[in-house]
Amino acid sequence: MGDFFERIVDIEVEQDDAGPLARELVDWLVGEGVVTRELTRDGVYSMQAEHGHVPGPNWAAAVDGPGWEPGPVAVIVGRSSYCGGQGFAEAGYAECPHCDTRVTIFDYPQLEPDYVAWQPFSRAIEEWEQSGTAVVHCTTCNRDVALRDWEWDDGFALGSLALDFWGWSPLSDDFVERIRRRLGHRINRHMGKL
Ligand SMILES: [Zn+2]
Repeated sequence: MGDFFERIVDIEVEQDDAGPLARELVDWLVGEGVVTRELTRDGVYSMQAEHGHVPGPNWAAAVDGPGWEPGPVAVIVGRSSYCGGQGFAEAGYAECPHCDTRVTIFDYPQLEPDYVAWQPFSRAIEEWEQSGTAVVHCTTCNRDVALRDWEWDDGFALGSLALDFWGWSPLSDDFVERIRRRLGHRINRHMGKL
């Protein structure tokens, strides 16, 4: 057990605000008894984090049904791309917000992403992670579109603050909504497996 995750990504917070917001969120989660301040490496497989918070005495308040003993919760701060599913880093698609052209990257029953189609996006993601800004040219409407304005499938997100719940039973919608309200931003929620 434990090699799967449920993830919540704040897709709006800017990097400078992400640290303080993460600390407030952890304070709240500790106060609710969902996690503790104790950190562990065991059971954390996040690309962007080495440690996670050990579950608290009231972890069951966060999940649907009785649930099972969960693993740690990694709190990740810093610009990064996030992908659910099983081990790929690429989005399923990217859609231009101006002309709605959809660039398909990965579509069932494909076995591998279309790396050629993905290349301008992966390059822009690297640039954005380093500098906070990047564009991808839309070849249909001939505009330079800010990377963060592109629309993605639900299993992909860009953000500066994320929570990885390792090995948790499905989080309840109510709990996720409470997190969203505390963040005060739009979120993406997806699941994945190693
Ligand atoms: Zn376009």
